[in-house]
Amino acid sequence: MDRTLRPKAWMCIAAAMGAGTSQAQNKGQKGQPQPDHPTVTVQGQSYTPRSILARNMGTPEDQTTQFPPHKIIGNVYYVGTRTLSSFLIVTPQGNILIDSTYERNVPTIRKSVEQLGFKFTDIKILLGNHAHGDHQEGDALVKKLTGARVFAMAEDVPALQAIKPGGKKHPIDQKLHDGETVSLGGTTLVAHLTPGHTHGCTTWTTMAQENGKSYNVVFNCSLRPQQALTPALVEEFNRSFKLVRTLPCDVPLGDHPAQYNMQDKYGRLQKEGANPFVDPAHCSAEADIEEAMFHALLAEQKREQNNAPKK
Ligand SMILES: [Zn+2]
Repeated sequence: MDRTLRPKAWMCIAAAMGAGTSQAQNKGQKGQPQPDHPTVTVQGQSYTPRSILARNMGTPEDQTTQFPPHKIIGNVYYVGTRTLSSFLIVTPQGNILIDSTYERNVPTIRKSVEQLGFKFTDIKILLGNHAHGDHQEGDALVKKLTGARVFAMAEDVPALQAIKPGGKKHPIDQKLHDGETVSLGGTTLVAHLTPGHTHGCTTWTTMAQENGKSYNVVFNCSLRPQQALTPALVEEFNRSFKLVRTLPCDVPLGDHPAQYNMQDKYGRLQKEGANPFVDPAHCSAEADIEEAMFHALLAEQKREQNNAPKK
């Protein structure tokens, strides 16, 4: 194992190797837990790197337990688990899946797709949020079961190729570059490069129609910063924080459902007339949290460097 790996990278590789317990998820390099500092407060809520990771991942049970599959808006559906997002976009010429999650979740995603009344084998295109095992470990199995064409942001390809559950080669049929589109049956998705969390982290956008109106749907990539921020990563994050705030957005979604309060919105879906997933006021909520954490980590890193003994 490469000891130079940053805690986040190690966490996801541990997960890809099947050690995906919450204990493993919350531990970084050398078995140390994710630090509980610095603390940032955004909209009256306090966060630490540890609490954000716990919010995202939940328990091992949360990561693998089906969340009731549901329509989000128009032709966009949720088919993931309690804490790992997977989205289905339905078109007359077949369907698009964003995120296979862990390989062991693929049968659960399949069940969700079928419970919504669709065929798993109608998935013609497989896309991904970013090259970590909790989002894209199951790609080879989805490809095997559906024959879907797999698209990947070019900058994420090396990290994707390192995700090989059971030794299976990671499928990549077509590389994408920032701003390129993927279309099927009248639906077009735009791939926005929003690097930092991984080099090819991809924020997908599309338009959905409901009750005669068009809505901008944003499938946000993770903006969660690593503990050790190199100048290159700082540049990537600065670019991404700026870019995500420029994207037209009515329906914010994320790679972990807690980022867009899915459970709460799903609960309201049952009661209310208006679609709770239409939530433009919270389009930058996750970016606000992660950007605050990014600056707090940078400040902490700077303090540590200044306090380090001079050689
Ligand atoms: Zn990740």
